[in-house]
Amino acid sequence: MPTLKQPAKAPTSTKKAAPKKPRHKKTAKPLAPERVAAILVELRKAYPDVVCALTHRNAFELVIATALSAQTTDVNVNKVTPALFKLYPTPKRLAAASLPEIEEIIHSTGFYRAKAKNIQGAARVLVERFGGKVPETIDELTTLPGVARKTANVVLGSWFGIAEGVVVDTHVLRLSRRLELTKATEPKKVERDLMKVIPQDRWIQFSHELIHHGRQVCVARRPRCVDCSLERLCNSKDKTWSSEEQRLEN
Ligand code: SF4
Repeated sequence: MPTLKQPAKAPTSTKKAAPKKPRHKKTAKPLAPERVAAILVELRKAYPDVVCALTHRNAFELVIATALSAQTTDVNVNKVTPALFKLYPTPKRLAAASLPEIEEIIHSTGFYRAKAKNIQGAARVLVERFGGKVPETIDELTTLPGVARKTANVVLGSWFGIAEGVVVDTHVLRLSRRLELTKATEPKKVERDLMKVIPQDRWIQFSHELIHHGRQVCVARRPRCVDCSLERLCNSKDKTWSSEEQRLEN
């Protein structure tokens, strides 16, 4: 008698189930002063001595290094600036340099043609309008080619210690949104929102701290929430782990 063929067993999947994403919970009052203060306390504790990661010895070098950091990493910029500043240590020397030579030195930072033109243009304006000195206001700094508000804020804050605004780079923008300190997506609007809720005496350090946190923990794709000192204060929908859900499950 023919035996009945057993239906083939469905193969058991060897794939591991993806870790469960925490449920998204809304923060009742994201801009409440006590919440903002708690975020600032945690950031200061996590990054007590944080400084600008671009190597520089003076305001001129910081202007140039920050202009070169567009669309690349600070590490990449730090690789080219020693050679650049060795050959052209002053605005006057950079203003008189040969453009192809500048392009060759800064080539690896990307967009090297535009950047070379801008940094030489900035050096020329420094010589012609500011007597070779870096000015100390946003309005004057942003007259330099290649220097927008972000670069001006970096130079004012990191070199002169002047808090005229908040540096909003890609990390500050992403983290400020995750922490619900702003809903804006445009850097200028994000800066305006941050200036309203962060005390002015914390503007400079706050952006350094967020930049470091964004590089080390709250990274773009899979933030490392399990290692984050702000986790209890954060209800971002991007969270990958929640201490509260862990507590409820146990
Ligand atoms: S808990 Fe996660 S998403 Fe929130 S700030 Fe920390 S790392 Fe970023």
